[in-house]
Amino acid sequence: MSKELTITPLNEWGYNFNTPLLMTGPCSVESEEQVKETARLLSQYQFDILRGGIWKPRTRPNTFEGIGSVGLKWLKEAGTALQKPVATEVANVKHVYEALRMGIDILWIGARTTVNPFAVQEICDALQGVDIPVLVKNPINPDLELWIGAFERLNRSGITKLAAIHRGFSTHEKSKYRNIPRWNIPIELKRRYPNLPIICDPSHICGNRELLREVAQTALDIGFDGIHLESHLNPDKALSDAKQQLTPDAYGELVASLLTRESLEENPYAENQLEILRSKIDHLDSYLLELLSERMDVVREIAEYKRENNLAIVQPSRWTEILESRLSTGLRKQLTEKFVKELFHAVHKESIHHQTEVMLNGENSKIMDETNK
Ligand code: PEP
Ligand code: MN
Repeated sequence: MSKELTITPLNEWGYNFNTPLLMTGPCSVESEEQVKETARLLSQYQFDILRGGIWKPRTRPNTFEGIGSVGLKWLKEAGTALQKPVATEVANVKHVYEALRMGIDILWIGARTTVNPFAVQEICDALQGVDIPVLVKNPINPDLELWIGAFERLNRSGITKLAAIHRGFSTHEKSKYRNIPRWNIPIELKRRYPNLPIICDPSHICGNRELLREVAQTALDIGFDGIHLESHLNPDKALSDAKQQLTPDAYGELVASLLTRESLEENPYAENQLEILRSKIDHLDSYLLELLSERMDVVREIAEYKRENNLAIVQPSRWTEILESRLSTGLRKQLTEKFVKELFHAVHKESIHHQTEVMLNGENSKIMDETNK
């Protein structure tokens, strides 16, 4: 099922990207002054790609749906002034042609477009033979295959400068996030396509400014390749996503506070240390299995005894007592209640399995003895 993707690494895209890659700029390009002044203020801080939305996918009409094609020129000029590549969202063929015509350097496919294979395919057809990087935001629903499908379609159009943007997933669950991260999904994407760069977009995950740092740091701790943060000259007055955008200064401060983790290849000392710790884990795991197997031996002895004395396997009061005492010990040892419960339920299930086996074997050998008489 898992087809290979052909990916050009970030350091071969023709730009001098930092590690991790940093992408910032306004949610929407609103005016020439707004995008150019935001970019100018951002230039004091580290970043690699200037973003700006030109056509905005909004929930309701009669809200600001983007400045439209006129903004492409302002965005491009803002980037050129700083010698930075610029990126915008494309959702249909017209957007692709306009963006290419105005020299936009990098395109991205938005979350509401990734969900629709017809729309993605149309974009891919329009891009056939064009050597431009394309970033693909995860679909709004947590469907990894749909996300992967977009990369496969782009690859089939000859596009290999690809990266994923993780912007969280829509949910009805009560959540502190605007779009819940479901970290397991980008992690699984990375496991299946280790060469595909993943950029985290804390802005659209959080929907507010307060949680941005925590989410960005988590992404770096996991080993994401980049961070995307929306920034605006005057966030509170922004025409879209006002609550989540940062002033350029706040962006600079946030980025400076992030701790970057070295990859193992860059740090052989860490790799050695990690080897030591991993062998400790291996040792502890085999000890754990040894102990569990020893425990089952005792369980079997108990079963023999119960069989000989005609006692039932499950003695509910004993089981309640085990669970309570293990829970209180586990909690004292910093283990969570859920984990200890699940662990002992699994151990109990395995014990019952061994005990029934002993009982049954006993019955069978009794029957055998009877028939052999
Ligand atoms: C955006 O980046 O401004 C945007 C609309 O994002 P998403 O597609 O992730 O909602
Ligand atoms: Mn936005």
